[in-house]
Amino acid sequence: MTEKQLPLARPNITQVEIDAVVAVLESSDLSLGPKLPAFEEAFADQCRRKHAVACSSGTCALHLLIRAMGIRDGDEVITTPFSFIASANCALIEGAKPVFVDIDPHTWNIDPARIEAAVTPKTKAILPVDVFGQMVDMDAILDIAHRHDLRMIEDSCEALGSTYKGKPAGSFGDAGVFGFYPNKQITTGEGGMIVTDDAALARLSRSLRNQGRDGNGGWLAHPRLGFNYRISDINCALGIAQLHRLTEIASERTRVYELYQTRLGPEKRLTLQGLRPGVTPNWFVFVVRLANRYNLADRDRILVSLREKGIGCSNYFAPIHLQPFYVEEFGYRRGDFPVCEALADRTVALPFHHELSSEDVDRVCGELRNQL
Ligand SMILES: *Cc1c(COP(=O)(O)O)cnc(C)c1O
Repeated sequence: MTEKQLPLARPNITQVEIDAVVAVLESSDLSLGPKLPAFEEAFADQCRRKHAVACSSGTCALHLLIRAMGIRDGDEVITTPFSFIASANCALIEGAKPVFVDIDPHTWNIDPARIEAAVTPKTKAILPVDVFGQMVDMDAILDIAHRHDLRMIEDSCEALGSTYKGKPAGSFGDAGVFGFYPNKQITTGEGGMIVTDDAALARLSRSLRNQGRDGNGGWLAHPRLGFNYRISDINCALGIAQLHRLTEIASERTRVYELYQTRLGPEKRLTLQGLRPGVTPNWFVFVVRLANRYNLADRDRILVSLREKGIGCSNYFAPIHLQPFYVEEFGYRRGDFPVCEALADRTVALPFHHELSSEDVDRVCGELRNQL
């Protein structure tokens, strides 16, 4: 008997989303139509921000912000090595240097106590990441940013719907960034968003997104060098429908998180991500950290065995500083960020989406225990 496949992630799409997409297809406004500002306005509201700028991916949103903030060759951006590659690449792609700061072993986020030692006269911004939906220590990081006159970019791509002291992810820094790939809390297929209260930053990001055009100059007037990072109205309609369902989607994810938590929380051979006081998370993935006596080879063997049983799983994340082109450009090696590496060697992300029943979670936890 072949057992049911349990994918790692799965988009939460209902008939409402399908109807919304079809309605755009039946109109003639497939791009730069009414769904773009409607999605942006609804998203700005969600993040309690004055402006939102939608674009074609979370990576594009990060890149637009780095460019719009004038961060370039010779500048430095402080960020975490325990993240998805885009949060460091956005600086590198503009010729700036991502300066890594090791993480806190409990929260898995950038360790605010280590940030100040990394500030130099070249530092222009701090770019913390809300890892897996856990929000960073906003008070501490904003305090450092203010004291050193640095920009703060929140990479909240994994934290839509999370709050810190009652305020939503994306509402803290000079700007926040979100991504809508199908494994995220809400999806637009592909898509991203910048949120900010800074009108000039929003205006410049909008222009850079659209080939350097300005509001009223016309289609062939390009006052500055820009990109095509637009998002279609088809994607925006999907995003609006998903955003309307955010509370429902979050509660379905919380249900599954709690199923895992009750089963794996007491397990001595692994630990769960510690929750920072004040954070109410909308989790992006469910990741366990194996105990120190397991090594990278043990972890990889566990991933292979779980996959053989039809259980989707992954190593979230691989340290950014050990990716070959970072090693080549900056000479990083193992041991440079030991807290990040010790965690990254031992993570197992388990299936996490709304369709998992308590029997499915029992099966995943049982198979995981069999491998320990
Ligand atoms: C998903 C994600 C992004 C953006 O990804 P895209 O696939 O480009 O939308 C950026 N940073 C982090 C931490 C992410 O998880």
